[in-house]
Amino acid sequence: MPTLKRSLDPLALHDVKVVAVVGASPGKHYSTSVINNLAAFGVSSQDLFLINPNYDEIDGRPVHSDLRSLPVAPDLVVSLVGVERVEAVVDDAIAVGAKAMLVIADGYSEMGAEGDRRQAVLREQAESNGLVLLGPNSLGYVSPSHNIAPWVGGNVPARLTTGKVALAFQSSGMLNLVLNQVAHRRIGLSSAVSVGNEAVMDLGDFIDAFADDDDADVIGVVLESTSRPRRLAEAMMKARKKRKQLVVLSIGKSELGMKNVASHAGRMATSGAVWDALFRQVGALVVNDLTEFMETIALFGAGDGAQYRGGIALATISGGDCGLLSDLAENEDLRLAQVTERTQRALDDSLSRTNILANPLDLRNTRTSAPAAFEESLSALASDPNVDVVVLRLNLALEPTPMHIEMYKSSAEMVRRAGAEVVFVQRVAETASADWYDLFAEIGVPFLTSYDSMIRSLANIQRQDRALPGMNEGENFPTLPGAVGDVPAAEPLGWDDAMSWLAKNGIPFTRAAKINTSAEAVAAASDMTFPLVLKGVVPGVAHKSELGLVEVGIADEQALRDSAERMIVRARAVTDLPDEVALEIQEMVTGGQEFFVGMHTDPILGPVISFGLGGIFLEVLKDVSYAVPPVTNTQVLSQLKELKGWPLLEGVRGTGIKDYQALSEMISAISRAIAAPGNLVTSFDLNPVLVRDQGRGVLVVDVYVEAAARRMKGE
Ligand code: ADP
Ligand code: MG
Repeated sequence: MPTLKRSLDPLALHDVKVVAVVGASPGKHYSTSVINNLAAFGVSSQDLFLINPNYDEIDGRPVHSDLRSLPVAPDLVVSLVGVERVEAVVDDAIAVGAKAMLVIADGYSEMGAEGDRRQAVLREQAESNGLVLLGPNSLGYVSPSHNIAPWVGGNVPARLTTGKVALAFQSSGMLNLVLNQVAHRRIGLSSAVSVGNEAVMDLGDFIDAFADDDDADVIGVVLESTSRPRRLAEAMMKARKKRKQLVVLSIGKSELGMKNVASHAGRMATSGAVWDALFRQVGALVVNDLTEFMETIALFGAGDGAQYRGGIALATISGGDCGLLSDLAENEDLRLAQVTERTQRALDDSLSRTNILANPLDLRNTRTSAPAAFEESLSALASDPNVDVVVLRLNLALEPTPMHIEMYKSSAEMVRRAGAEVVFVQRVAETASADWYDLFAEIGVPFLTSYDSMIRSLANIQRQDRALPGMNEGENFPTLPGAVGDVPAAEPLGWDDAMSWLAKNGIPFTRAAKINTSAEAVAAASDMTFPLVLKGVVPGVAHKSELGLVEVGIADEQALRDSAERMIVRARAVTDLPDEVALEIQEMVTGGQEFFVGMHTDPILGPVISFGLGGIFLEVLKDVSYAVPPVTNTQVLSQLKELKGWPLLEGVRGTGIKDYQALSEMISAISRAIAAPGNLVTSFDLNPVLVRDQGRGVLVVDVYVEAAARRMKGE
């Protein structure tokens, strides 16, 4: 029934007047919370119906025995009953014509097969009757902008303010934490939803709805995984098209991606880097932890965001801090704005020194000792044409005094008058008092909680922006599955099939031939240039050198003959099928940088491409880049530039520039082949691809391909 489901609009959960709470009971946390929150967010006593056959009243409110006996039809039914009774409540809700329902009960798909079955029933019930059902296993939602809050996780914090941040979380516990944080920090909230088990309405549905919601400019998503990746990706692409800022934290990455993986990098894909790669490809800002998540939504929740993508200047009031900030910025690769000579002179003049460090700038204690110098230098920095935002650290105290209030207000004013935006920051968690956040909210300035998290968050925004120009605008990721599927059974392609697959897709392979005897080796060599390489071709053997089945640097015909004799013996010794053994003769490629390009099929995300410099870059540094095919040449290039090993391609210490252009074209071409309709390849490993000097292209020297069982023979 997926088509039916798509007509369900989350707005039904928000556009609510009359609410029934089934399973309300006195003194119970969920019940008390949801009643208080509904009352606090716009549901009047006449429109709030409590249902429980065991009570006549709860805290002075009348209680009804069942849904069917209500005088009016509720728009929303909140079900607090245990898992066994949910089915009956859903039937009642449908019978009385409710449009939306929130199911709090757990005991569903998080509980194994029996739970799965129950969840399927719930889904069928809701979808076939057009009921917009949230949950089960959800704590509900809070929407200041729609003035509705069926939230069971405690009283919604009184400090919560309305604003432009919308949140969609899988983890309700984490949403509870973040709700308290955004309230305390006065980050304005539009809506927040905990999607629970997503039996019917899922993350994608809410992101999609937020994309259409004029009150939601920043969409924060915390998720573990999804069973409908295409839906999620499409919703994110829509949000991006509508110029919403998506901030995504993905946690607890699955191990499923490990299954059926020929490529070595694919086997390492459990880090969740694959998920993050997809989210980046569809335009999300992926953050690395909850602290970065909070800082990032604080930034975008207060400003329009453009400034963080521009030139960044840091200013503080101590010399030691400047050193620390410089170190942190360098470590995290936060690129600070370079001020003009004119600004430099103005700073030197106002702070009476020559050639002072302009960014980070040390304003010292000039605000008290020489206020004119403070204003001149802060204004000079902020008015620099390369500076769009000034991150400023000033003195804090436990509570803001009138002196502090004046200082922060006037400093913000100075920066803004000079044409930049301002962000305040503290060194470490020095103060967390509510009054401070009230002050910053009043001035409309984001306040970040430490140097470290400020630098990391801004660097993360910059880094992903560098990758953006190459994003696959207009791409719809045809390989993304609609729902979790099984990885098709696959088998390795033989040498000839693998070669023709490469040739068909224009992937250059070193000159090579398959042969059986030393005489054939010598004959084949007459078309080749020494030095040569010999390899044993043994069915089922993917790692040849471990078994002594690779000899490189064969200099002449005699060496070739000897090597071939040895290799045949060795190859036959490692298999039960000695008759199927063959040899491969290749031209040796010299002077190339070794690189790998792999692909595996993730059971959730489908085909995923991985690439990087092999060896320690892969094994020790986990320096791998992922992409969901197809991926444009420009995007591959920007991904290459983010690899730790990039300097080896760009040319360091006289090694010369490698042909990374040819490399990115090859990766993009192979990604398009994978994304093409009818592709049967389930995984491959090109390892190594030798990236030669600029202008000389790339050559693959080792290939392993697996294809779906109904497959490519003779293709
Ligand atoms: P396997 O990965 O199965 O052990 P390879 O074919 O990748 O075997 O060979 C092992 C290593 O030998 C490669 O990583 C590469 O360093 C080197 N090598 C293999 N073939 C060539 C070649 N044609 N030119 C240059 N080096 C090669
Ligand atoms: Mg290899």
